[in-house]
Amino acid sequence: MKTILVTGGAGYIGSHTVLALLEKKYEVIVVDNFVNSSKKALARVEKLTGKKIKLYELDCCDKVKFSQVFKENKIDAVIHFAGLKAVGESVNVPLKYYENNLFSTINLLNLMQEYKVYNIAFSSSATVYGEPKSVPIYEDFELHISNPYGRTKLIIEDILRDFSKVNPEFNIAILRYFNPIGAHPSGLIGENPNGIPNNLVPYITQVAVGKLKELGVFGNDYPTKDGTCIRDYIHVCDLAEGHILALNKLFSKCGLVTYNLGTGKGYSVLEVIKAMEKAVGKPIPYSFKPRRAGDIPECYASPVKAETELGFKAKYSLEDMARDSWNWQKNNPNGYDE
Ligand code: NAD
Ligand code: UDP
Repeated sequence: MKTILVTGGAGYIGSHTVLALLEKKYEVIVVDNFVNSSKKALARVEKLTGKKIKLYELDCCDKVKFSQVFKENKIDAVIHFAGLKAVGESVNVPLKYYENNLFSTINLLNLMQEYKVYNIAFSSSATVYGEPKSVPIYEDFELHISNPYGRTKLIIEDILRDFSKVNPEFNIAILRYFNPIGAHPSGLIGENPNGIPNNLVPYITQVAVGKLKELGVFGNDYPTKDGTCIRDYIHVCDLAEGHILALNKLFSKCGLVTYNLGTGKGYSVLEVIKAMEKAVGKPIPYSFKPRRAGDIPECYASPVKAETELGFKAKYSLEDMARDSWNWQKNNPNGYDE
């Protein structure tokens, strides 16, 4: 049985992926410093699967501590989720983002090389496309970055491309996620934002549960079907499945590959509100606000390459995503906090 090291495995996407890995009978080792997550997520994954997760609580930027994980385990592949992800915060404290996201990745690559672990999937983001020339977005589109968070993703992608050229024994999957939402259908694990959410769906669910008063819809004068922005929302469980398929690809010795993980469908903010209202069973109060700096009108993936080369196809609809997001929020109004 293969052993997968999951950095950031206690986080939102990480915890759902750890669950999927355990269900597929992989051994899982998680490294996390819990800067943006809770140990309870892992306890709940253990409860759901009846399996134990080997956990190292450490910062990937601490190379000495991190090296212990490689010394003590035989690792077949790494899924590298660990990173800071708040766009707004990255604008205000860019060094924190460069330091955390870049140092952790460089340490990881050095350790993988030293311990001859040659397979890695990296969490990139559709943000690397900036404002695309057209939609759907294909993997070979030009990359443009407008904020420090996105720049850390692009720099890491560039590091991986440079590294791959001189280390052909490495198999590297760059996975560009579109907009992950939803939660495991059990309602036991889900997204647990710190403070007031920045992202649309967690904001809506907190309005629905009564923690926030009203949603602000950022802009209704975009050149889209209803004037609000369009995004490619993907269920976090579909995303988790994408990582399992990416591992198969890595184990087939693929070299460096890059895939969009999205559904290929774009929904407007108003369509998402409507789907959430249906799931919640009551209206979501909202009002229109000015555009948010940095937002682009329309962003959705071409999912064709991932489908053709990985066999990846998102299964969950917007309705499913809305139902599972709400199920998580209503069962856990305070996330993992009691
Ligand atoms: P998350 O914050 O829930 O998970 C990240 C995890 O990494 C957390 O558990 C955090 O504690 C941990 N972590 C951060 N820095 C660390 C460090 N130096 N050492 C050890 N652990 C560390 O975020 P997520 O939504 O699960 O995202 C996972 C990855 O996917 C991130 O790299 C993120 O940038 C990327 N991504 C997320 C989205 C999204 O919308 N959620 C979209 C595109 C890409
Ligand atoms: N959005 C909004 N109100 C909010 C949060 C988000 O209208 O409180 C909009 C935002 O302008 C964007 C879409 O919802 O068009 C998705 O935003 P999110 O932050 O979830 O993801 P992004 O695509 O920006 O990474």
